[in-house]
Amino acid sequence: MSSIILKDITIDGICRDVLIRAGLIEKIEPSGSSVLWDIAGDVEIMDCSGKVAIPGFVNMHVHAAMSLMRGLGEDMVFNDWITKIWDVEKNIDSEYVYWATKVACIEMIRTGTTTFNDHYWYFDASVRAAREMGLRIATGYEIMDKGSLAEAERQKLQCQEKTAKYLASPSEMHLYQLAFHAIYSVSEEMMIWAAEFARKHKINLHIHLSETRKEVEDCKAAHGGLSPVEYLDRLGILSDNIIAAHTLWLSPNDVRLLGERGVNCVHNVNSNTKLASGYRFLYKELKDAGANVCLGTDGCASSNNLDMLEVMKTSALFQKAWRDDPSALPLPELMDMATLNGAKALGIQSGRLVEGAVADINIVDTDNTFFLSNSPFLANLVYSAHSDCIDSVICAGRFVMRNRQIPEEKEILTQAKRVLAKIA
Ligand SMILES: [Zn+2]
Repeated sequence: MSSIILKDITIDGICRDVLIRAGLIEKIEPSGSSVLWDIAGDVEIMDCSGKVAIPGFVNMHVHAAMSLMRGLGEDMVFNDWITKIWDVEKNIDSEYVYWATKVACIEMIRTGTTTFNDHYWYFDASVRAAREMGLRIATGYEIMDKGSLAEAERQKLQCQEKTAKYLASPSEMHLYQLAFHAIYSVSEEMMIWAAEFARKHKINLHIHLSETRKEVEDCKAAHGGLSPVEYLDRLGILSDNIIAAHTLWLSPNDVRLLGERGVNCVHNVNSNTKLASGYRFLYKELKDAGANVCLGTDGCASSNNLDMLEVMKTSALFQKAWRDDPSALPLPELMDMATLNGAKALGIQSGRLVEGAVADINIVDTDNTFFLSNSPFLANLVYSAHSDCIDSVICAGRFVMRNRQIPEEKEILTQAKRVLAKIA
């Protein structure tokens, strides 16, 4: 792999030269320093004057292959919506997932995501798609037995087989994990099995949790007044290897439990507000309790796009609005939620532009109206600009987009149209 020097790029307000080698940020020097030129050897130099580097985003909850299901269930209540999606999903296959995930990757690259935490069927196809596109994916076997004993037994066997295969050849670009859908679609026995299996293999377990008021009410009725969080805790499932999407309807005791167990909680504001699941996400309470709070888009069937900058802005606006407090979500914390916190949950050295970190970098073009002020860069990036200010993207030391160009984009769109027509 050849080296890259980003010349005259601004990081944290200071102009620098950055050497990227072997997938890592090897050296950051003051701009114009001769040190890099001596050590770089075979190197590609990119002139980045007028551009700013920020860490690549980590989208912590997405169903990438839903990129071809936009607008399918608009203006529907959650339960009707999910029934409709499950109906459509009966017709998909691994070819569909492969091309749909590639479409999602195009969109994620354009909007600056370098790592995504996926949750979907036919995950082998998603892994292949992401790796070919140069993005890092966290995903693995998906469990949803809907209470069927036969299905549970089939899934256990398949899960063991797939896990053994993937753990035998680990990759820094595919972080293998387990997923189960939710407490209302997976049997109790299967959830316990999945949690023990994930713990035994030291991998993460990605779930949906406390997404709607109905989920909480149904759980209380079925389990002696326990909330979904209390119920999972009673089953011994909650710990710091759990990535819990949504965690929206929480009691003070739920917040305490999620904090004490060090659960990774993913806020998906666009999905939650669009499906009218709710908007009073308890960011401050979860953070203060000790939970690791991250951001995600959710799938395009509910959030319609995969734009993490949009998610950052909307998250901040809702926190400010419902709390009646403009300081409810400070910009540096918002940036950490979109980068560093997700990297921590997935165990990767990403989310900070420092020497030794993985080279996941967005190069932002500031030569436009949105950045023409003396105010802080982050404020302009989040509240004024759109993600098309992201000019180039580097993931694990490789360009996945240069000057807004992504290789093979046309071919991917053509193939996606073909698989879409097949399931129509
Ligand atoms: Zn989801």
